[in-house]
Amino acid sequence: MFDKILIANRGEIACRVIRTARRLGIHTVAVYSDADQHALHVALADEAVHIGPAPARESYLKAAAILDAARRTGAQAIHPGYGFLSENAAFAAACRKAGIVFIGPPPDAIAAMGSKSAAKRLMETAGVPLVPGYHGEEQSEAALRGAADAMGYPVLLKATAGGGGKGMRVVTSAGEFSEALAAARREAQNSFGDDAMLVEKYLTRPRHVEIQVFCDRHGGAVYLFDRDCSVQRRHQKVIEEAPAPGLSPIVRAQMGEAAVTAARAIGYEGAGTVEFLLDTDDSFYFMEMNTRLQVEHPVTEMITGQDLVEWQLRVAAGAPLPLAQNQLEIRGHAFEARLYAEDADNDFLPATGTLAFLQPPEESDHVRVDTGVLQGDSISVHYDPMIAKLIVWDEDRDRALTRLARALRDYRIAGTVTNIEFLYNLITTPAFRAAELDTGFIERHRDAIFRRRPDTDARLAALAALYLLLRREQAAGEFAATTSDPWSPWHSAHGWRCNDAPVQQFHLLLDGREILFTATADGNRHQLHSELGRAVIAGTLAGSELHASLDGHRQLVTVTAHDGGYSLFTRDGALHFNEVRTDAGAGEEDTTGGLTAPMNGTVTALRVEAGARVAKGDPILIMEAMKMEHSIRAPADGVVAEIFYGVGDLVDGGAELVRFEADAG
Ligand code: ADP
Repeated sequence: MFDKILIANRGEIACRVIRTARRLGIHTVAVYSDADQHALHVALADEAVHIGPAPARESYLKAAAILDAARRTGAQAIHPGYGFLSENAAFAAACRKAGIVFIGPPPDAIAAMGSKSAAKRLMETAGVPLVPGYHGEEQSEAALRGAADAMGYPVLLKATAGGGGKGMRVVTSAGEFSEALAAARREAQNSFGDDAMLVEKYLTRPRHVEIQVFCDRHGGAVYLFDRDCSVQRRHQKVIEEAPAPGLSPIVRAQMGEAAVTAARAIGYEGAGTVEFLLDTDDSFYFMEMNTRLQVEHPVTEMITGQDLVEWQLRVAAGAPLPLAQNQLEIRGHAFEARLYAEDADNDFLPATGTLAFLQPPEESDHVRVDTGVLQGDSISVHYDPMIAKLIVWDEDRDRALTRLARALRDYRIAGTVTNIEFLYNLITTPAFRAAELDTGFIERHRDAIFRRRPDTDARLAALAALYLLLRREQAAGEFAATTSDPWSPWHSAHGWRCNDAPVQQFHLLLDGREILFTATADGNRHQLHSELGRAVIAGTLAGSELHASLDGHRQLVTVTAHDGGYSLFTRDGALHFNEVRTDAGAGEEDTTGGLTAPMNGTVTALRVEAGARVAKGDPILIMEAMKMEHSIRAPADGVVAEIFYGVGDLVDGGAELVRFEADAG
């Protein structure tokens, strides 16, 4: 076995590899870019080497810098993780040449699967079933169109150099062919520098079922069963599970054997995944082979009880496979959900931001969290916006699914947009529970997944209001304690006044909407009223724990204040909100001088121009952070002398936004 390995990757996969290496007593070397100086993978490794600036092209993809780091630190082997250089045959060859073991398949095997077309021709010869299609060298539009016409529409155009769903187009009729081909070619050229295409019969309701294979250099080859990765957005996986539900033992064995045949056909070594499309009639077709460890390998680990990174290390060091086929079996059921910083409501647009609050669910035999970030870390534009992989296991699918729902609710993140709510809504649809899976799942169940929940929204808003009321009371209490007459009713924040019902009003920003709340004190409770409805709220606040009672329903809620505002986490989901301070300057604040940004965000609108005369309370500028708007208002009557930012500008919390001159007197 190796004494020291280098991990040529970052984020969760680097951390995950380091964990196994450490358990086996192997020293680890991390590599890092400028952006990752303080990253978790660097902190976890025994040593770390800086390899370049933030862009991957200048760091994690720089083979020479990585090999140099391995040489300098005396690492005997390099684990490439996934992505970056993991499927780069030239890099695997360069490692070999440098006398360093590449923890992965031989360069020839990577190259054999590097082109989807060439791989398909190879598989055809090996007798592995293929989706009917054209994988020829001839690339004229006439040849490709001829193939499409012959197999009948719909067809799928795919970049032969493709990956990540890029350069793929569905063509539903002959009339669309030309335009679709041009678009797919452009995308392929931009992404891979190669616009060669293959044409496939487009299956209308396939499942994506893939097989984990493992081979050693002594002729050993096994499959570690299947994963269903049908739930995809933009042809990319979001939820994976193992084993694939409803697969008969016969089909399972057939697919496993076909996958092993595919691996043997290219002289494979190490961990690999053979991806198939499974049609409604149980026929299955080879799609491609990924010659690396997959993102979703943990679900296989959970159901087989094996550590696949340990297997990789052993096999790369020349040992035979730890187990034979008849020693492997499936136990229970596992799910993986990929948590991304992305806006599901906005076509899954990737997001960035600082993880102002990050609290994963507690890990156990049932719950595993693979992540590479800590609270305070940033999701940057330079790398994949994945925050974590949440993996759960239980005796059967139903129970595992219940655990997944619970764990998603317990995953608390603030500071960036995430897909957690989307994942929760997806996995709690009846169709998902019934395992009615195919690659069109999200599209077909769009209404159920993206449902609006006005009742829940109103409840969460009432809890947010309660939190702010209690915070005000606390602040007032703290202030009173510092005065000479701490019990004076004038310090109370209840809105107490002589001979009148104690009423407080405040504005909250909820999902970009500014909502006015009126709270009337009634003993220890408040009658709350807003356009969202009425509620009776009461509770106590201790740190971030809010013991709330909402219309008689008691619950424990977590609330945290951070740069971007407040985040509230409940069994019904999370709410990110802000208080709109319309009374800025009315109290002790200086009304002349600057108005500052309440949080990191973007300027989305200017309501007035420099030089404008405004009345107290008039909006001057609108900022947005975490999808929430915040109006910056005039603290008094006066003139907006200067505005320092324009629409679209990024602003740090605390930065001066405008110079304001209040009227004298
Ligand atoms: P990439 O390498 O870009 O991820 P794949 O070839 O792995 O592309 O395909 C990605 C996804 O596209 C599959 O998981 C499946 O959902 C869909 N897909 C691929 N080929 C077909 C096909 N012939 N018919 C229907 N869907 C397909």
